[in-house]
Amino acid sequence: MVRPVTIWASISDEIARFPVEVRELPVAPVTDPVQLRAALETQYRFDSPRALDEVTAEVMRLFRAHTVHVTHPRYFGLFNPSVREAGIIADTLSALYNPQLAAWSHAPAACELERLTLRRLAGLLGFDPDTIIATFTTGGAEANLSAVLAALAHHCPEADRGGVAALAARPAIYVSGESHHSFVKIARMTGLGTDALRIVPTTSTHTLDPVALAECVRADTVNGWRPLLIVGTAGTTSAGVIDPLPQIADVAEAAGAWFHVDAAWGGGAALSAHLRPLLAGVERADSVTWDAHKWLSVPMGAGMFFCRHPDAVRRAFAAVTSYMPDAVSGATDDPYVTSAQWSRRAIGLKVFMALAELGVDGYATLIEHQVAMGDLLRTRLTEAGWLVVNDTALPVICFTHPSIRAGMLTTRTVLEVIYTRGFVWISDVVLGGQERVLRACITSYRTTSDDVDTLVTELERSLAGGATS
Ligand SMILES: *Cc1c(COP(=O)(O)O)cnc(C)c1O
Repeated sequence: MVRPVTIWASISDEIARFPVEVRELPVAPVTDPVQLRAALETQYRFDSPRALDEVTAEVMRLFRAHTVHVTHPRYFGLFNPSVREAGIIADTLSALYNPQLAAWSHAPAACELERLTLRRLAGLLGFDPDTIIATFTTGGAEANLSAVLAALAHHCPEADRGGVAALAARPAIYVSGESHHSFVKIARMTGLGTDALRIVPTTSTHTLDPVALAECVRADTVNGWRPLLIVGTAGTTSAGVIDPLPQIADVAEAAGAWFHVDAAWGGGAALSAHLRPLLAGVERADSVTWDAHKWLSVPMGAGMFFCRHPDAVRRAFAAVTSYMPDAVSGATDDPYVTSAQWSRRAIGLKVFMALAELGVDGYATLIEHQVAMGDLLRTRLTEAGWLVVNDTALPVICFTHPSIRAGMLTTRTVLEVIYTRGFVWISDVVLGGQERVLRACITSYRTTSDDVDTLVTELERSLAGGATS
């Protein structure tokens, strides 16, 4: 039986309306967890069937009312984008056909669209698409894990059977205090242990200090450790700064260590010819993490992993089974033997469709617009007496105010006023392990200069309100 068209009409209506109407909604509605849970438990006992159109309408209502609207043009938050329609269509089609990308032979169309997309993006990073391997991942955390596993397969092949216990020297991983904390989990997941993580000091610009790195690597080598992998972050989560990639590459090369660039968010700069030079040095990486669900404006989850050692990746993820279909000659590797996932959704379809719709130049326009809005915000804040404390060309602005520094109010009191009013959403962060500052990131290609002005107005109000309360 064909379902009445109304349910789909209501969805396509919502897809058309929500991106416009979200502007008028509170960015971050306040939810009482006890009330929400109780309401849901009363309504859904799962003992009797419910009409799907009713359930659909209810989910739409719930999501509108109880979600931080990261697609709101005044969500100046973490790296969560407004999504392109192409991504919504792609995720819908992917659910409809449910292609299984574990084996190429099960999903030739989806696998080849992913391959095409990854090759184009690899070229923008300065890689030769013919000699590298690239896969879509669930996100940046999986891509970073893939880097460590590939580095182990490459540099410590004896760990394949014996685990890290079989290694003569314990492998060490170098990150900075501003690196992403997925590496803490990865140290545990890989059996390396969190003692293997070296937190290299940062300089006053909150970027990894390459001199301190070289010293740390040298000391470890003397003390019997094996410098395995060095992470350079291109676009740190807190301050959006880019580590000195060429200098880190030099240290890695001299130490015979794997150089991984975590460009989960900042990788987006590669789409713009103007901004691409900021990533100089990324082309020397052994592997790169780049999330499409951050700055490429597609829905979660869509990470990407690029690696210039295909054989190491194959060894890291190899598995032999009797039940999986045979590899097809002339095809690419079966994704289940070149990545951590087994059953795989067509993750890359949304990136393919967005890239096909926009073209690289169209994407560059979106990225450059967000950079311009970041520059505008920096200017407006400075004009209004705020102090910008990070230095990056990317649209993350960390800032404070003389009256916060003087202890008259805190970032938390500023945020409380802002969250209660609900017109904008920003966060705060501790930079360099020292000062707690406010953080605003342009994450929506729909953010306008009026939205930026509203943010500054809201901040001014919060100063007044926060100081008197
Ligand atoms: C977001 C982020 C990650 C983690 O990526 P997920 O997609 O959330 O798994 C890793 N590194 C950096 C620099 C990030 O910004």
